[in-house]
Amino acid sequence: MAGKSEQNAVVLDKQRPANVAQKSMKHHLILEDPAAAFANVRHEFGEHGGVNMSIEASITFTVMEPENLSRMFAGELGPDRDFFIYSRHLNPTVLNLSRLLAALEGTEAAYCTSSGMSAISSVLLQLCSSGDHIVASRSLYGGTYALLTHFLPKACNITTSFVDIRDLNMVEEAIAEGRTKVLYFESISNPTLMVSDILALCRIAHSKGVTVVVDNTFAPMVLSPARLGADVVVHSISKYISGAADVIAGAVCGPASLINSMMDLREGALMLLGPTMNAKIAFELSERLPHLGLRMKVHSNRALVFATRMTKLGIKVIYPGLENHPDHGLLKSLANKDYGYGGNGDFVC
Ligand SMILES: *Cc1c(COP(=O)(O)O)cnc(C)c1O
Repeated sequence: MAGKSEQNAVVLDKQRPANVAQKSMKHHLILEDPAAAFANVRHEFGEHGGVNMSIEASITFTVMEPENLSRMFAGELGPDRDFFIYSRHLNPTVLNLSRLLAALEGTEAAYCTSSGMSAISSVLLQLCSSGDHIVASRSLYGGTYALLTHFLPKACNITTSFVDIRDLNMVEEAIAEGRTKVLYFESISNPTLMVSDILALCRIAHSKGVTVVVDNTFAPMVLSPARLGADVVVHSISKYISGAADVIAGAVCGPASLINSMMDLREGALMLLGPTMNAKIAFELSERLPHLGLRMKVHSNRALVFATRMTKLGIKVIYPGLENHPDHGLLKSLANKDYGYGGNGDFVC
């Protein structure tokens, strides 16, 4: 899929090969925790030895040896050896944030985008061609639902069947083998707060050669879809990850082969549609990521206290942290330890 840019791998951390986790069970467990994974990410210092990375505010880069230019365009020299072409392709400060996102989700690589919707549309356009088919949960963020219902069929002849993601038979029957390329759902859905059985859904999709894409916007740290088997995790960083409702941003986390194919100079959706992130935004966000775990714990704690109080007052609350939520047991069984059940609850008026 990645073609020539394979050598150009935007890998999370060259010092930590993928098989390290299997070597020792203890190490494996540490790497499974997203906060520990953050601590393991390669830390880049600033240009003058600063404790934070410098902001690489340039869109284009100098190439000191003319012969290197053709090697860069051939994909032989890439970001892993500090060769950057152009910031729509990849910027060092954006790569630094992308490493953190890959660590958060336990994927080989990640790429940060200008919005959650651009992350979602780019990855779907990379995985599907005209005539292909997607099976998606009918309980989705409104923008994603509109993309699948209206935009993709009209502009790209990519069609979607919507299913009740809790009905595993329905999911299986909706998959048209060969034609269905993607199974798409949200880990915890916005706004209905349905929890997806990520393990079971991945099993079904993979038995039919279908790629699983999970939107984990509502459950960063709480759930790790890729650690449970999903191929690709997408985020709207605009919500919990940014944490202050001040930045629109997104990310695609997945295998290095996919991320590289999305950056391909001739066929990559990220490179050619151009939804790249600005380096200054990437720097700002990279300062907030190390505290995400602490924030999620407090969000979850407060939401549970609030939902419990409201329930006692006789108000009907939908919150997956409450035992009366139909997916409470499922979420408890899939969730990472100590991050609770998320910060979102719905009130039925
Ligand atoms: C907000 C949101 C999006 C879209 O993200 P933007 O950053 O606003 O483009 C996608 N999925 C979910 C679950 C969301 O909540």
